[in-house]
Amino acid sequence: MELNDRAELDTSQVNDLGRGVGSGRGMPIPLPTGRGGLVSLVITVLVALVGGGIGLNAATNGDGAGGEDLEQSCSRDNPDRFGNVKCRNLLYVNSIQDYWKQEYPAISGRQYEPTDTNYFGQAVSTGCGTADSGVGPFYCPADKQVYIDLSFYDELASRFGADGEFAAPYVLAHEYGHHIQNLLGTNERAGQGDQTGPESASVRLELQADCYAGAWARHATESKDKSGQEALFTSITESDIKEAVETAEAIGDDTIQQRSGGGINPDQFTHGTSEQRQRWFRQGYDRGDPQVCDTFGTSRL
Ligand SMILES: [Zn+2]
Repeated sequence: MELNDRAELDTSQVNDLGRGVGSGRGMPIPLPTGRGGLVSLVITVLVALVGGGIGLNAATNGDGAGGEDLEQSCSRDNPDRFGNVKCRNLLYVNSIQDYWKQEYPAISGRQYEPTDTNYFGQAVSTGCGTADSGVGPFYCPADKQVYIDLSFYDELASRFGADGEFAAPYVLAHEYGHHIQNLLGTNERAGQGDQTGPESASVRLELQADCYAGAWARHATESKDKSGQEALFTSITESDIKEAVETAEAIGDDTIQQRSGGGINPDQFTHGTSEQRQRWFRQGYDRGDPQVCDTFGTSRL
């Protein structure tokens, strides 16, 4: 993949909550379900969600407090900006949202509602409760925002073996897939179904988010920058797509269960198997159309 040096990034789509990139690690505990229906990328993330009332360090809870200025560091004037993980991820967010701005009206008849991604380290207070830095990326339906501790990518590489750069846009596009589901009301309907099991509503929701990520990837090179004049990506190659597929493989429920040594228990599936996650991402990518992401109506999940 190549990013366009001339692209003007829209920094208003990302809030850098500062405090650098946290490295706190806890014991893996299952993500509580039913707390505002928070949806994540993987379930074995290290998570500590408590009620919203916990006092947080002010620096973790404000626009850009303590963080570097994205406007400056990600400006076109900085020739090294794409060496900065924050700027690269900003570009991915811009691209994903530009895609949905075009595509969402076609599937819903309504305007797309843009939403922000929040970079956090340490802990973060969200509409779904407080998350600590060990939590994987997630979307909070209550405040309609995406949250990511960028150190997750290091973990994805070291712990899950997914070390390709295209893992990052796949992860973000998956989370924005949950935003689309929230706007469409899919999220809420799924919240009434089973939350675990191979054909559960949770698995259907997660595989659909993977498929939406694939649909974006197909059209990513068409997405435009803030000015509307420049492309954000100058190229995406088959090897990038392979990295996304490999990431989908690495975070399948069966693969994660197997790696943790407990054997495979389909009753506990929440996100789908490696085979399913790869296949649904591919489906979205190959067809390039979110309409082919009907994981709720299909006979072959
Ligand atoms: Zn998810």
